[in-house]
Amino acid sequence: MHNHHIVIVGGGSAGWLTAGLLAARITAQRSQGIKITVIESPDVATIGVGEGTWPSMRHTLQQIGIPETQFMLHCNASFKQGSSFYGWRSGEKNDYYVHPFTTPPGYAELDIASGWRALHPDRAYSDTVSAQSQVCAYGKAPKQLQTPDYAGVTNYGYHFNADKFVELVKNHCIDQLGVNCLVDHVESVTAHPNNDIDAVTCKTHGMVQGDLFVDCTGMRSLLIGQHFNVPWISQRHVLFNDSAVAVQAPYDSAQTDIVSTTLATAQSEGWIWDIGLSNRRGVGYVFASQYTDAATAEQSLTEYLARSMSKDAMSALTPRVLHFKPGYRQEFWKGNCVAIGMSSGFIEPLEASALAMVELSATMLCDHLPSLMTQMPTVRKRFNQRFRYRWQRVIDFIKLHYAISERTDSEYWRDNRSQNSIPDSLHELLELWRHQSPSRYDFIENEEVFPSASYQYVLYGMDYHTQSTSLSTAELEHCQQLFAKNTEYVSRLLQGLPSNRDWLTAKSQSGLAQTG
Ligand SMILES: Cc1cc2nc3c(=O)[nH]c(=O)nc-3n(C[C@H](O)[C@H](O)[C@H](O)COP(=O)(O)OP(=O)(O)OC[C@H]3O[C@@H](n4cnc5c(N)ncnc54)[C@H](O)[C@@H]3O)c2cc1C
Repeated sequence: MHNHHIVIVGGGSAGWLTAGLLAARITAQRSQGIKITVIESPDVATIGVGEGTWPSMRHTLQQIGIPETQFMLHCNASFKQGSSFYGWRSGEKNDYYVHPFTTPPGYAELDIASGWRALHPDRAYSDTVSAQSQVCAYGKAPKQLQTPDYAGVTNYGYHFNADKFVELVKNHCIDQLGVNCLVDHVESVTAHPNNDIDAVTCKTHGMVQGDLFVDCTGMRSLLIGQHFNVPWISQRHVLFNDSAVAVQAPYDSAQTDIVSTTLATAQSEGWIWDIGLSNRRGVGYVFASQYTDAATAEQSLTEYLARSMSKDAMSALTPRVLHFKPGYRQEFWKGNCVAIGMSSGFIEPLEASALAMVELSATMLCDHLPSLMTQMPTVRKRFNQRFRYRWQRVIDFIKLHYAISERTDSEYWRDNRSQNSIPDSLHELLELWRHQSPSRYDFIENEEVFPSASYQYVLYGMDYHTQSTSLSTAELEHCQQLFAKNTEYVSRLLQGLPSNRDWLTAKSQSGLAQTG
């Protein structure tokens, strides 16, 4: 049998998640004859941020074969049930909404947004249609202690330590899934006459030949960028943020409550993320260098942290500044090389879509595994079409948060709202949503990155006005029942679910008892 060699260059989250998904699928399908090697440089560190995930990460880790509790304890992980937005609409004190992960009950059957407007116009949309925003408000876990691994009462993803995550997935890939790892720096690329990659040459191990190369080298983009010269399509004219200053902030005590959502607090030239892990917070200001500089951003971050931290604790922090170019590749797959992770594209981490795009890319590779090598031109064409579409959808959804803001307090916000920074595709939808609520007919691909329910949470969280569709009496009654049931469900969940902190403490104690 012919041996195929898949060479993944880069051992960050993208490289190891891709290796894990491919290797697990190869093992499951008993596709012998496919070998996977990951090459990671000892000289180039991984990016070390990327701490918020989507619910899709549960399925990914389950497929790779890592038990959930082991993963959570190793990576200081906690549950993420959505994002909370402060100050995005007006910047005033009470300006707050939640985008939870759970789709509202009844969403697919009827126009619940019109029901909400008719019945509870003064209550928050998310509180009316979903139980999850209240579960989050009370810092509750999305599951009970006895709920099986990866199952949830409400939908959830994670917050975790990015370095520990890479370490865990890497060790699992090597020890359990037969992935080869070369710790070596790739210095050059040898190409076939048609420019496809024949081999990469490493400093110590020399030439490594392969049939398919996966570029997971992060922003360096060694293969797709440097070898194939595939252009980068900048999105800075739409999404201005291109820098971040980040810190790891300790909790006051080991009992401090852990927040259930990523907190995203708007600032005058960007926004601050605040992520609660089990043992610390990850906090950072994402900003646009065109409008402010790192020192001013750090000052705003300091003021934000001072609300919850002592001066002493703050003096021990070591802020780290990162820069990135918002955009994506014109092609993600060129010749026999597919780019996954930061090498293929990156835009600011609002709504944390980067790891989800890694998961989607690696999954599409897996789904085409049998034909990957023999039908490469067709698979490549489909991959490129699909991911071009997905990047555009991600960009539209992130831009939505800025486009419908009413803030005018800085040039940053005024420019962010100006028509010429809003993509036509989003502009068209916003016009439509003046007359009807977002629905599944607005997004017709399978595996859309953001479902229409997410658009509703953001639009109505930010008071976007859609003309109410008149519902029939039966439909209104149906909505009323759904909303009443939701209120009842909230009280049951608040009684039955442990807090995030309690869930993690109990699991870590039972983990210690098992190992002790
Ligand atoms: C400020 C910020 C916040 C973010 N927050 C989130 C978030 O909340 N959620 C989310 O999903 N994503 C987030 N991301 C994105 C996320 O961090 C990345 O998508 C993810 O970590 C994948 O990175 P990567 O593996 O592509 O690159 P990297 O982590 O940079 O890894 C690159 C790898 O390539 C190797 N390499 C480089 N050159 C060579 C060479 N010559 N030879 C051999 N190996 C080489 C390196 O050694 C390393 O192993 C954030 C990003 C930023 C900048």
